[in-house]
This record gives sequence, structure tokens and C-alpha cells, in this order.
Amino acid sequence: MTEKEKVLARLNKYKSMDGECWRWLGYLSLGRPRIGYKGKYILVSRLIMWITQDFDFKSKLHVLHKTKDGTCKFVDCWNPEHLYIGTNAQNMADRVITHCKRGHELTVDNTVYSSKGRQCRECKNERTKLWNRKQTKKFQSL
Ligand SMILES: [Zn+2]
Ligand SMILES: [Zn+2]
Repeated sequence: MTEKEKVLARLNKYKSMDGECWRWLGYLSLGRPRIGYKGKYILVSRLIMWITQDFDFKSKLHVLHKTKDGTCKFVDCWNPEHLYIGTNAQNMADRVITHCKRGHELTVDNTVYSSKGRQCRECKNERTKLWNRKQTKKFQSL
């Protein structure tokens, strides 16, 4: 089992399905689910985004609930499809930005989150490929 699978197995013990929502049966702090992980109480919403989207749960970005559009109405819900990542400022920007600079649609699957914020996965893959090609060339010319 990977670390993520282990954590997910722990989280699932406290899962209670409520329609599309995953309510939390464990410890709550100010109504928000938390669980002890590596000596700290961490928000479950951050852990589930780490597990499902490789979100860096130590980053300064927030994991927010999709309550405004009616997708979700529970603050203790931790269904990753009902959550999204952003700062408050990004929050506003996210509503407008639907495509990257090069026109790829920023769907959930095509978006990666890093310390720099939202990034297009397709562009990122492209950059990695280019970089790899350069490395190969370097080796060939040695
Ligand atoms: Zn929900
Ligand atoms: Zn792109």
C-alpha cells in the first residue's frame, strides 16, 4: 500500500454517504473535519485533495467548498468533486479563467496545482517532453 492508500483507508472509516456528499463521522474542529496525521490535526479536505489531485497540503493555498453553485451544502463534506483549490484572490480569477494561455481547456483533469498556482497539464507535459528532448540531445553531443 502506498502512503496515499493508507491515509485514504483511514479516512474511509469515517465516511458517511449523504447523496453525493461525503459527511464526516470523525473529529470536527469549528465544523471542519480534521484527522491526526504525522503528529498534527490536518483538515480532511486538504488530505483528500492530496490523495486525489496531488495537492501539496502544506501549501498556503486553500481548499474550498463548492457551495456557491449549489454543488454541495455541507461544510463537513470531503468529496473531492465538491472541493477546489485556490486563494481568495484566485477564487475570483478562477471564475473567469477557463482556458490556459495556449487555449487548452482547464478541466479538473487538465489542471495541476503547484506552488505557482493553477497550471495547464497539457502545457506542463509539453514542457517536460521538450526538456527531456534537450537532455537527450545534450547526452548525444557529449
Ligand atoms: Zn458535498
Ligand atoms: Zn495549455
